[in-house]
Amino acid sequence: MILAFSPDSPQCSRADCRADATRSVVWRNPKIHSADRRKVWLACDEHVEYLRSFLASRAFPVTVVDGVSDGSGVALDEGAR
Ligand SMILES: [Zn+2]
Repeated sequence: MILAFSPDSPQCSRADCRADATRSVVWRNPKIHSADRRKVWLACDEHVEYLRSFLASRAFPVTVVDGVSDGSGVALDEGAR
């Protein structure tokens, strides 16, 4: 999966998708990230649920926010652990 982040022209993180990002999937991996760490995958409307499910299936805390975010200040749903 391509995770390149380009602030100039934010695009969906889904491999081979060139659509403009409309949402930010904010998450962290509890095994390697501290509790205040945030990772962000940008997503288009079509792929936001795919990306969210991918992370949720691994029991990672994940939250979807509208627009392009750097994840700072976003509260994650930590309840799945
Ligand atoms: Zn997409």
